[in-house]
Amino acid sequence: GSVFANVAQAPEDPILGVTVAYNKDPSPMKVNLGVGAYRTEEGKPLVLNVVKKAEKMLLNNPSRVKEYLPITGLADFNKLSAKLIFGADSRAIQENRVTTVQCLSGTGSLRVGAEFLARHYNKRAIFIPQPTWGNHPKVFTLAGLSVKTYRYYDPKTRGLNFQGLLEDLNMAPSGAIVLLHACAHNPTGVDPTLDQWEQIRRLMRSKSLLPFFDSAYQGFASGNLDADAQSVRMFVADGGECLMAQSYAKNMGLYGERVGALSIVCESADVAVKVESQLKLVIRPMYSNPPIHGASIVATILKDSSVDKAYVFLCFLREMYREWTIELKAMANRIISMRQQLFNALSARGTPGDWSHIIKQIGMFTFTGLNKEQVSFMTREYHIYMTSDGRISMAGLNTKTIPHLADAIHAAVN
Ligand code: PLP
Repeated sequence: GSVFANVAQAPEDPILGVTVAYNKDPSPMKVNLGVGAYRTEEGKPLVLNVVKKAEKMLLNNPSRVKEYLPITGLADFNKLSAKLIFGADSRAIQENRVTTVQCLSGTGSLRVGAEFLARHYNKRAIFIPQPTWGNHPKVFTLAGLSVKTYRYYDPKTRGLNFQGLLEDLNMAPSGAIVLLHACAHNPTGVDPTLDQWEQIRRLMRSKSLLPFFDSAYQGFASGNLDADAQSVRMFVADGGECLMAQSYAKNMGLYGERVGALSIVCESADVAVKVESQLKLVIRPMYSNPPIHGASIVATILKDSSVDKAYVFLCFLREMYREWTIELKAMANRIISMRQQLFNALSARGTPGDWSHIIKQIGMFTFTGLNKEQVSFMTREYHIYMTSDGRISMAGLNTKTIPHLADAIHAAVN
Protein backbone atom coordinates (compact mmCIF):
# COMPACT_ATOMS: atom_id res chain seq x y z
CA GLY A 1 0.00 0.00 0.00
CA SER A 2 0.95 3.64 -0.40
CA VAL A 3 2.78 5.34 2.43
CA PHE A 4 0.29 8.14 1.76
CA ALA A 5 -2.78 5.93 2.05
CA ASN A 6 -3.91 7.86 5.12
CA VAL A 7 -3.82 11.25 3.43
CA ALA A 8 -7.30 12.70 3.62
CA GLN A 9 -8.99 14.23 0.59
CA ALA A 10 -8.78 18.03 0.98
CA PRO A 11 -11.70 20.27 0.04
CA GLU A 12 -11.44 22.43 -3.10
CA ASP A 13 -10.32 26.01 -2.60
CA PRO A 14 -13.58 27.92 -2.04
CA ILE A 15 -12.83 30.43 -4.82
CA LEU A 16 -10.91 28.34 -7.36
CA GLY A 17 -13.31 25.44 -6.69
CA VAL A 18 -16.09 27.45 -8.31
CA THR A 19 -14.26 27.27 -11.64
CA VAL A 20 -13.69 23.53 -11.20
CA ALA A 21 -17.45 23.04 -10.83
CA TYR A 22 -18.13 25.41 -13.75
CA ASN A 23 -15.78 23.49 -16.04
CA LYS A 24 -17.64 20.24 -15.30
CA ASP A 25 -21.04 21.71 -16.24
CA PRO A 26 -21.99 20.81 -19.85
CA SER A 27 -24.81 23.43 -20.05
CA PRO A 28 -24.39 26.02 -22.85
CA MET A 29 -26.04 28.64 -20.60
CA LYS A 30 -23.40 28.39 -17.91
CA VAL A 31 -21.79 31.58 -16.61
CA ASN A 32 -18.73 31.77 -14.34
CA LEU A 33 -18.90 34.75 -11.98
CA GLY A 34 -16.65 33.13 -9.41
CA VAL A 35 -13.13 34.00 -10.35
CA GLY A 36 -11.63 37.46 -10.12
CA ALA A 37 -10.29 37.72 -13.65
CA TYR A 38 -11.27 40.24 -16.30
CA ARG A 39 -13.24 39.09 -19.33
CA THR A 40 -14.06 41.05 -22.48
CA GLU A 41 -17.58 41.81 -23.68
CA GLU A 42 -17.18 38.55 -25.66
CA GLY A 43 -16.41 36.68 -22.46
CA LYS A 44 -12.77 36.10 -23.38
CA PRO A 45 -9.62 36.64 -21.28
CA LEU A 46 -7.77 39.81 -22.28
CA VAL A 47 -4.08 40.34 -22.94
CA LEU A 48 -3.52 44.10 -23.00
CA ASN A 49 -2.14 45.50 -26.24
CA VAL A 50 0.53 47.34 -24.32
CA VAL A 51 1.62 44.05 -22.76
CA LYS A 52 1.93 42.47 -26.21
CA LYS A 53 4.02 45.44 -27.33
CA ALA A 54 6.30 45.21 -24.32
CA GLU A 55 6.76 41.49 -24.90
CA LYS A 56 7.67 42.12 -28.53
CA MET A 57 10.25 44.68 -27.46
CA LEU A 58 11.71 42.25 -24.96
CA LEU A 59 11.89 39.45 -27.51
CA ASN A 60 13.59 41.70 -30.07
CA ASN A 61 16.24 42.82 -27.62
CA PRO A 62 19.39 40.87 -28.63
CA SER A 63 21.05 41.38 -25.24
CA ARG A 64 18.16 39.72 -23.41
CA VAL A 65 19.25 36.83 -21.19
CA LYS A 66 17.65 34.38 -18.81
CA GLU A 67 20.07 34.81 -15.93
CA TYR A 68 18.86 34.71 -12.32
CA LEU A 69 17.52 37.96 -10.97
CA PRO A 70 18.88 39.15 -7.63
CA ILE A 71 17.00 37.84 -4.54
CA THR A 72 15.11 41.14 -4.43
CA GLY A 73 14.16 40.99 -8.11
CA LEU A 74 14.48 43.46 -10.97
CA ALA A 75 15.77 46.77 -9.61
CA ASP A 76 13.94 48.97 -12.16
CA PHE A 77 10.71 47.13 -11.52
CA ASN A 78 11.02 47.72 -7.79
CA LYS A 79 11.69 51.44 -8.11
CA LEU A 80 8.87 51.94 -10.59
CA SER A 81 6.42 49.91 -8.50
CA ALA A 82 7.06 52.04 -5.43
CA LYS A 83 6.59 55.16 -7.51
CA LEU A 84 3.34 53.86 -8.95
CA ILE A 85 1.71 53.25 -5.59
CA PHE A 86 3.27 55.97 -3.42
CA GLY A 87 3.32 58.66 -6.13
CA ALA A 88 6.07 60.21 -8.23
CA ASP A 89 6.59 62.95 -5.62
CA SER A 90 6.58 60.71 -2.55
CA ARG A 91 8.87 62.07 0.16
CA ALA A 92 9.38 58.62 1.60
CA ILE A 93 10.90 57.52 -1.72
CA GLN A 94 13.02 60.66 -2.07
CA GLU A 95 14.35 60.09 1.44
CA ASN A 96 15.24 56.46 0.58
CA ARG A 97 13.00 55.21 3.38
CA VAL A 98 11.25 52.65 1.18
CA THR A 99 12.56 49.20 0.45
CA THR A 100 10.83 47.27 -2.34
CA VAL A 101 11.30 43.63 -3.28
CA GLN A 102 9.76 41.85 -6.26
CA CYS A 103 7.51 38.99 -5.15
CA LEU A 104 5.15 36.38 -6.59
CA SER A 105 2.16 38.62 -7.29
CA GLY A 106 -0.03 39.93 -4.48
CA THR A 107 -0.19 36.64 -2.59
CA GLY A 108 3.58 36.22 -2.52
CA SER A 109 4.03 39.83 -1.41
CA LEU A 110 1.62 39.33 1.47
CA ARG A 111 3.38 36.13 2.48
CA VAL A 112 6.90 37.60 2.41
CA GLY A 113 5.67 40.63 4.37
CA ALA A 114 3.98 38.37 6.90
CA GLU A 115 7.05 36.15 7.30
CA PHE A 116 9.18 39.25 7.86
CA LEU A 117 6.78 40.53 10.53
CA ALA A 118 6.65 37.15 12.25
CA ARG A 119 10.44 37.23 12.59
CA HIS A 120 11.18 40.88 13.23
CA TYR A 121 8.13 42.57 14.68
CA ASN A 122 7.35 42.09 18.33
CA LYS A 123 3.56 42.01 17.88
CA ARG A 124 1.91 38.83 16.59
CA ALA A 125 -1.69 39.98 16.11
CA ILE A 126 -2.92 40.96 12.67
CA PHE A 127 -6.45 42.35 12.36
CA ILE A 128 -8.16 41.60 9.05
CA PRO A 129 -11.54 42.92 7.92
CA GLN A 130 -14.67 40.79 8.36
CA PRO A 131 -15.17 39.58 5.65
CA THR A 132 -12.02 39.61 3.56
CA TRP A 133 -10.38 37.75 0.68
CA GLY A 134 -10.44 34.07 1.71
CA ASN A 135 -6.70 33.59 1.37
CA HIS A 136 -5.77 36.31 3.88
CA PRO A 137 -6.29 34.31 7.10
CA LYS A 138 -4.40 31.32 5.68
CA VAL A 139 -1.42 33.35 4.46
CA PHE A 140 -1.03 35.15 7.78
CA THR A 141 -1.65 32.14 10.00
CA LEU A 142 0.87 30.00 8.13
CA ALA A 143 3.42 32.79 8.40
CA GLY A 144 3.06 32.57 12.17
CA LEU A 145 0.87 35.59 12.87
CA SER A 146 -2.23 35.45 15.01
CA VAL A 147 -5.28 36.45 12.99
CA LYS A 148 -8.07 38.56 14.52
CA THR A 149 -10.89 40.36 12.74
CA TYR A 150 -12.35 43.84 12.80
CA ARG A 151 -15.91 44.66 11.77
CA TYR A 152 -16.10 46.01 8.24
CA TYR A 153 -19.32 45.18 6.39
CA ASP A 154 -22.86 45.83 7.49
CA PRO A 155 -25.27 43.37 5.81
CA LYS A 156 -28.21 45.65 6.68
CA THR A 157 -26.94 48.61 4.65
CA ARG A 158 -24.73 46.54 2.36
CA GLY A 159 -22.19 49.24 3.13
CA LEU A 160 -19.38 49.98 5.57
CA ASN A 161 -19.83 49.36 9.29
CA PHE A 162 -17.70 52.37 10.07
CA GLN A 163 -18.64 52.62 13.74
CA GLY A 164 -17.87 48.92 14.27
CA LEU A 165 -14.57 49.29 12.45
CA LEU A 166 -13.48 52.23 14.62
CA GLU A 167 -14.56 50.46 17.82
CA ASP A 168 -12.67 47.29 16.94
CA LEU A 169 -9.48 49.08 15.93
CA ASN A 170 -9.76 51.17 19.05
CA MET A 171 -9.89 47.96 21.12
CA ALA A 172 -6.91 46.41 19.29
CA PRO A 173 -3.74 46.16 21.38
CA SER A 174 -1.25 48.94 20.75
CA GLY A 175 1.17 48.03 17.95
CA ALA A 176 -1.07 45.40 16.36
CA ILE A 177 -0.87 44.95 12.58
CA VAL A 178 -3.95 45.95 10.58
CA LEU A 179 -4.61 44.64 7.08
CA LEU A 180 -6.25 47.29 4.89
CA HIS A 181 -7.52 46.86 1.33
CA ALA A 182 -6.11 49.90 -0.47
CA CYS A 183 -9.18 50.11 -2.72
CA ALA A 184 -11.98 47.96 -4.16
CA HIS A 185 -12.38 45.82 -1.05
CA ASN A 186 -12.74 42.13 -1.88
CA PRO A 187 -15.35 40.60 -1.54
CA THR A 188 -17.66 43.49 -0.55
CA GLY A 189 -16.82 46.24 -3.06
CA VAL A 190 -17.25 48.65 -0.14
CA ASP A 191 -14.51 51.23 0.51
CA PRO A 192 -14.25 53.94 3.17
CA THR A 193 -14.63 57.51 1.91
CA LEU A 194 -11.52 59.69 2.01
CA ASP A 195 -12.88 61.38 5.10
CA GLN A 196 -13.35 57.98 6.78
CA TRP A 197 -9.84 56.94 5.69
CA GLU A 198 -8.51 60.04 7.44
CA GLN A 199 -10.30 59.06 10.64
CA ILE A 200 -8.95 55.53 10.36
CA ARG A 201 -5.45 56.89 9.81
CA ARG A 202 -5.64 59.15 12.86
CA LEU A 203 -6.93 56.38 15.08
CA MET A 204 -4.31 53.91 13.86
CA ARG A 205 -1.42 56.33 14.25
CA SER A 206 -2.60 57.37 17.71
CA LYS A 207 -2.59 53.71 18.77
CA SER A 208 0.63 52.85 16.89
CA LEU A 209 -1.21 50.23 14.85
CA LEU A 210 0.93 49.07 11.92
CA PRO A 211 -0.81 49.34 8.51
CA PHE A 212 -0.32 46.47 6.06
CA PHE A 213 -1.92 47.49 2.77
CA ASP A 214 -3.08 45.02 0.17
CA SER A 215 -3.30 46.71 -3.23
CA ALA A 216 -4.61 44.21 -5.76
CA TYR A 217 -6.78 46.61 -7.77
CA GLN A 218 -4.94 49.91 -8.27
CA GLY A 219 -6.54 51.61 -11.28
CA PHE A 220 -9.19 48.93 -11.55
CA ALA A 221 -11.62 50.53 -9.10
CA SER A 222 -12.02 54.05 -10.47
CA GLY A 223 -10.04 53.73 -13.68
CA ASN A 224 -7.50 56.17 -12.24
CA LEU A 225 -4.21 54.94 -10.76
CA ASP A 226 -3.70 57.94 -8.50
CA ALA A 227 -7.25 58.05 -7.20
CA ASP A 228 -7.08 54.39 -6.21
CA ALA A 229 -3.83 55.00 -4.28
CA GLN A 230 -5.11 57.90 -2.20
CA SER A 231 -5.77 55.89 0.96
CA VAL A 232 -2.21 54.59 0.93
CA ARG A 233 -0.66 57.97 0.20
CA MET A 234 -2.47 59.52 3.18
CA PHE A 235 -0.76 57.04 5.48
CA VAL A 236 2.66 57.50 3.88
CA ALA A 237 2.42 61.29 3.85
CA ASP A 238 2.25 61.41 7.64
CA GLY A 239 5.78 60.04 7.87
CA GLY A 240 4.73 56.83 9.62
CA GLU A 241 5.69 53.29 8.69
CA CYS A 242 3.66 50.72 6.77
CA LEU A 243 3.81 47.64 4.55
CA MET A 244 2.44 47.45 1.01
CA ALA A 245 1.66 44.35 -1.07
CA GLN A 246 1.12 45.18 -4.74
CA SER A 247 -0.21 42.97 -7.52
CA TYR A 248 -0.14 43.47 -11.29
CA ALA A 249 -2.49 40.52 -11.86
CA LYS A 250 -5.61 42.61 -12.50
CA ASN A 251 -4.42 46.05 -13.53
CA MET A 252 -2.01 44.74 -16.18
CA GLY A 253 -3.82 41.45 -16.76
CA LEU A 254 -0.65 39.55 -15.80
CA TYR A 255 -2.41 36.98 -13.59
CA GLY A 256 -0.35 33.92 -14.49
CA GLU A 257 2.95 35.80 -14.68
CA ARG A 258 2.82 36.18 -10.90
CA VAL A 259 4.27 39.66 -10.69
CA GLY A 260 3.99 41.85 -7.62
CA ALA A 261 5.99 43.78 -5.07
CA LEU A 262 6.33 44.16 -1.34
CA SER A 263 7.35 47.61 -0.11
CA ILE A 264 8.15 48.48 3.46
CA VAL A 265 8.08 52.18 4.27
CA CYS A 266 10.47 52.79 7.14
CA GLU A 267 11.17 55.67 9.46
CA SER A 268 14.67 56.23 8.07
CA ALA A 269 16.94 55.17 5.21
CA ASP A 270 19.12 53.42 7.74
CA VAL A 271 16.26 51.19 8.92
CA ALA A 272 15.20 50.51 5.32
CA VAL A 273 18.63 49.09 4.45
CA LYS A 274 18.53 46.69 7.39
CA VAL A 275 14.95 45.67 6.69
CA GLU A 276 15.87 44.83 3.09
CA SER A 277 18.78 42.69 4.24
CA GLN A 278 16.33 40.64 6.33
CA LEU A 279 13.78 40.39 3.51
CA LYS A 280 16.51 38.68 1.51
CA LEU A 281 16.89 36.09 4.26
CA VAL A 282 13.14 35.44 4.11
CA ILE A 283 13.09 35.06 0.32
CA ARG A 284 16.26 33.05 -0.33
CA PRO A 285 15.15 29.78 1.30
CA MET A 286 11.55 30.18 0.07
CA TYR A 287 12.05 30.48 -3.71
CA SER A 288 15.57 31.91 -4.08
CA ASN A 289 14.68 34.71 -6.49
CA PRO A 290 11.62 35.79 -8.47
CA PRO A 291 10.85 35.15 -12.17
CA ILE A 292 12.10 37.59 -14.77
CA HIS A 293 9.53 37.76 -17.55
CA GLY A 294 6.51 39.45 -15.94
CA ALA A 295 8.62 41.99 -14.08
CA SER A 296 10.39 42.90 -17.33
CA ILE A 297 7.02 43.56 -18.98
CA VAL A 298 5.92 45.80 -16.12
CA ALA A 299 9.22 47.66 -16.03
CA THR A 300 9.09 48.26 -19.80
CA ILE A 301 5.64 49.79 -19.54
CA LEU A 302 6.22 51.82 -16.37
CA LYS A 303 9.61 53.10 -17.49
CA ASP A 304 7.81 55.25 -19.97
CA SER A 305 6.29 57.26 -17.18
CA SER A 306 9.69 58.25 -15.86
CA VAL A 307 11.01 59.68 -19.11
CA ASP A 308 12.38 63.15 -18.51
CA LYS A 309 9.57 65.69 -18.83
CA ALA A 310 11.50 67.65 -21.50
CA TYR A 311 11.42 64.66 -23.80
CA VAL A 312 7.85 63.70 -23.16
CA PHE A 313 6.50 65.04 -26.43
CA LEU A 314 9.39 63.74 -28.48
CA CYS A 315 9.52 60.36 -26.98
CA PHE A 316 7.44 57.61 -28.50
CA LEU A 317 8.29 55.38 -25.55
CA ARG A 318 6.12 57.34 -23.15
CA GLU A 319 3.22 56.17 -25.26
CA MET A 320 3.29 52.78 -23.58
CA TYR A 321 2.51 54.10 -20.14
CA ARG A 322 -0.26 56.24 -21.58
CA GLU A 323 -1.63 53.32 -23.54
CA TRP A 324 -1.71 51.24 -20.38
CA THR A 325 -3.72 53.87 -18.50
CA ILE A 326 -6.20 54.00 -21.40
CA GLU A 327 -6.61 50.21 -21.52
CA LEU A 328 -6.93 50.10 -17.74
CA LYS A 329 -9.63 52.75 -17.80
CA ALA A 330 -11.49 50.81 -20.49
CA MET A 331 -11.54 47.70 -18.26
CA ALA A 332 -12.73 49.73 -15.27
CA ASN A 333 -15.40 51.44 -17.36
CA ARG A 334 -16.72 48.18 -18.72
CA ILE A 335 -17.13 46.89 -15.17
CA ILE A 336 -18.90 50.08 -14.10
CA SER A 337 -21.23 49.77 -17.07
CA MET A 338 -22.02 46.15 -16.12
CA ARG A 339 -23.09 47.41 -12.69
CA GLN A 340 -25.48 49.87 -14.25
CA GLN A 341 -26.86 47.29 -16.70
CA LEU A 342 -27.46 44.69 -14.00
CA PHE A 343 -29.15 47.28 -11.79
CA ASN A 344 -31.35 48.38 -14.71
CA ALA A 345 -32.25 44.79 -15.56
CA LEU A 346 -33.40 44.11 -11.97
CA SER A 347 -35.37 47.37 -11.88
CA ALA A 348 -37.04 46.44 -15.17
CA ARG A 349 -38.10 43.09 -13.68
CA GLY A 350 -39.38 44.73 -10.54
CA THR A 351 -37.20 42.39 -8.47
CA PRO A 352 -38.11 42.88 -4.79
CA GLY A 353 -35.56 44.65 -2.59
CA ASP A 354 -33.12 47.52 -2.85
CA TRP A 355 -30.38 46.76 -5.38
CA SER A 356 -28.68 50.15 -5.38
CA HIS A 357 -25.61 48.61 -3.72
CA ILE A 358 -24.80 47.10 -7.13
CA ILE A 359 -24.01 50.57 -8.47
CA LYS A 360 -22.61 51.92 -5.20
CA GLN A 361 -20.03 49.18 -4.65
CA ILE A 362 -16.74 49.49 -6.46
CA GLY A 363 -14.14 47.30 -8.15
CA MET A 364 -14.36 43.87 -9.62
CA PHE A 365 -16.97 42.39 -7.32
CA THR A 366 -20.52 42.93 -6.17
CA PHE A 367 -21.48 41.52 -2.80
CA THR A 368 -25.06 40.80 -3.80
CA GLY A 369 -26.48 39.95 -0.41
CA LEU A 370 -27.80 36.66 -1.83
CA ASN A 371 -27.56 33.85 0.71
CA LYS A 372 -26.12 30.35 0.38
CA GLU A 373 -29.48 28.78 -0.54
CA GLN A 374 -30.17 31.42 -3.19
CA VAL A 375 -26.68 30.96 -4.63
CA SER A 376 -27.06 27.19 -4.88
CA PHE A 377 -30.53 27.65 -6.44
CA MET A 378 -29.01 29.91 -9.12
CA THR A 379 -26.26 27.41 -9.83
CA ARG A 380 -28.67 24.48 -9.99
CA GLU A 381 -31.43 26.10 -12.05
CA TYR A 382 -29.54 28.74 -14.04
CA HIS A 383 -25.98 27.36 -14.24
CA ILE A 384 -24.59 30.55 -12.75
CA TYR A 385 -21.46 29.96 -10.70
CA MET A 386 -20.29 32.22 -7.84
CA THR A 387 -18.82 31.92 -4.36
CA SER A 388 -21.34 30.83 -1.72
CA ASP A 389 -21.13 34.22 0.04
CA GLY A 390 -23.03 35.74 -2.90
CA ARG A 391 -20.06 37.53 -4.43
CA ILE A 392 -20.22 37.95 -8.20
CA SER A 393 -17.43 39.08 -10.47
CA MET A 394 -18.76 41.98 -12.55
CA ALA A 395 -15.84 41.44 -14.92
CA GLY A 396 -17.27 38.05 -15.86
CA LEU A 397 -20.53 39.62 -17.12
CA ASN A 398 -21.46 40.97 -20.53
CA THR A 399 -24.50 42.42 -22.26
CA LYS A 400 -25.62 38.93 -23.28
CA THR A 401 -25.34 37.30 -19.84
CA ILE A 402 -26.90 40.13 -17.81
CA PRO A 403 -30.55 39.27 -18.66
CA HIS A 404 -29.89 35.64 -17.69
CA LEU A 405 -28.33 36.69 -14.37
CA ALA A 406 -31.17 39.13 -13.69
CA ASP A 407 -33.72 36.36 -14.36
CA ALA A 408 -31.84 34.08 -11.97
CA ILE A 409 -31.66 36.68 -9.18
CA HIS A 410 -35.32 37.54 -9.70
CA ALA A 411 -36.30 33.88 -9.38
CA ALA A 412 -33.99 33.33 -6.40
CA VAL A 413 -35.46 36.12 -4.27
CA ASN A 414 -39.08 35.48 -5.20
N1 PLP B 1 -5.49 40.50 -2.38
C1 PLP B 1 -6.76 40.56 -2.76
C2 PLP B 1 -7.71 41.37 -1.97
C3 PLP B 1 -7.18 39.88 -3.90
O1 PLP B 1 -8.44 39.97 -4.28
C4 PLP B 1 -6.24 39.11 -4.63
C5 PLP B 1 -6.67 38.34 -5.79
O2 PLP B 1 -7.79 37.96 -5.99
C6 PLP B 1 -4.92 39.10 -4.17
C7 PLP B 1 -4.59 39.80 -3.05
C8 PLP B 1 -3.79 38.35 -4.80
O3 PLP B 1 -3.83 38.04 -6.10
P1 PLP B 1 -2.49 37.63 -6.87
O4 PLP B 1 -1.68 36.80 -5.96
O5 PLP B 1 -3.00 36.90 -8.04
O6 PLP B 1 -1.82 38.91 -7.21
